[in-house]
Amino acid sequence: MLRDFFSKKKKYATIPSERAKQEVPEGLMTKCPSCRTIMYTKELKKNLYVCSSCGHHHRMTAYERIESLIDQGTFEEFDKDMIAKDPLNFPTYEEKLEQDRKKTDLNEAVVTGRGTMNGYNTVIGVMDARFRMGSMGSVVGEKITRAIERAIETKEPFILFSASGGARMQEGVLSLMQMAKTSAALQKLDREGGLFISIMTHPTTGGVSASFASLGDYNFAEPKALIGFAGRRIIEQTIRQELPEDFQTAEFLLKHGQLDRVVHRQDMKDTLVKVLSMHQ
Ligand SMILES: [Zn+2]
Repeated sequence: MLRDFFSKKKKYATIPSERAKQEVPEGLMTKCPSCRTIMYTKELKKNLYVCSSCGHHHRMTAYERIESLIDQGTFEEFDKDMIAKDPLNFPTYEEKLEQDRKKTDLNEAVVTGRGTMNGYNTVIGVMDARFRMGSMGSVVGEKITRAIERAIETKEPFILFSASGGARMQEGVLSLMQMAKTSAALQKLDREGGLFISIMTHPTTGGVSASFASLGDYNFAEPKALIGFAGRRIIEQTIRQELPEDFQTAEFLLKHGQLDRVVHRQDMKDTLVKVLSMHQ
């Protein structure tokens, strides 16, 4: 009898199975890296991932961004299954791609498609920094180029949210060529009288900031987003000067004429809809 009692106890104390563990929601609470306020992740999500106490813009996934902007049920994704090859046989590249696919449920660092925004037709692309730091490999460049070509074909405006660490070193020169390819496609869009709105989110750096992200008819950015080409330390070492504290932030670029506007995430949809309605 006594033995039964203990064995039962033991049964109740078992470690949850792998499956049970997975069902536990990830990160019930989130701490703001800027003001250290701890809040419910659900609340934060409802607030479009903007900290309600300091306004810090947390990272958003590509699909969450699309959901926050595109009218429900109208989004039609392009080239969802396109995946990268490993043209240089770069060590561990394929494993890393596979890991990121699993981690993010994405096949690449950008999601492109078409939908309506408050009824206005639009082609939209959203980069996702969780996938290989949003780096631009051949698939990212190709998906963006195809989205631009579709916008030309259907005479719809093109909106792109960038978030990127720059070129994807594992693809070498093929990655760098995407800068020219996407820029050429945008030039064609421009010649056809198309509209391109670029929104730079945190962080937009390297080859992405040096190509399509800076080529908008309107160049917007989210508050405090890091935007630049080379890293701060490299520039300081090269020019042997100390840089201002706010260097490479959206606000700094606005002050120096490289951006048209810094748009708070909660005003993003209204701002975009206004621009779309002006260009109808
Ligand atoms: Zn905060």
